Amino acid sequence: MIDPAQAAKARPSWDDYFINIAFTVAERSTCDRAHVGAVIVRDRRILTTGYNGAPAGLPHCDEIGHLMVDGHCVRTLHAEQNAIIQAALHGVNIAGSTIYVTHQPCLTCAKMIINAGIRRVVYAGNYPDEYSRQFFHQAEVALEHLPRKRHADTVYQPGRANALPSNEEES
Ligand SMILES: [Zn+2]
Ligand SMILES: [Zn+2]
Repeated sequence: MIDPAQAAKARPSWDDYFINIAFTVAERSTCDRAHVGAVIVRDRRILTTGYNGAPAGLPHCDEIGHLMVDGHCVRTLHAEQNAIIQAALHGVNIAGSTIYVTHQPCLTCAKMIINAGIRRVVYAGNYPDEYSRQFFHQAEVALEHLPRKRHADTVYQPGRANALPSNEEES
């Protein structure tokens, strides 16, 4: 007989469910400096998704290399930006939503998330940005870390060619 408590434990929470989808979305990323995925959700419904990559129709990093400025690849739109833009493109209201992101949003994405009316940010891996934390705090957007043990977790390290799979933060 299946122990109901055991069965409930095996079933992912809604937060786990959506962050897992964000990791799947991240697999479409075309900039290997960090494979980032984002999923915007309201009332347990996925509204839009995004991953980091070049603007539509332009060549991608994995085709022609990165476009480096000050230690950052500037060729790409970030995953969060693409998820918000997709909402604009398709006329989807994302006010009051939650965004699930594989990494902590950068400051630019944080500002866009705040003005898009997103009220909660759940992230897994790291991308330590103190200013984005401060901005979310001041705008009263909830920022929640959901630690992961997946191979696909990446730790963003500026200046490194690749974001390497790592579980360091949990050890
Ligand atoms: Zn790149
Ligand atoms: Zn960003």
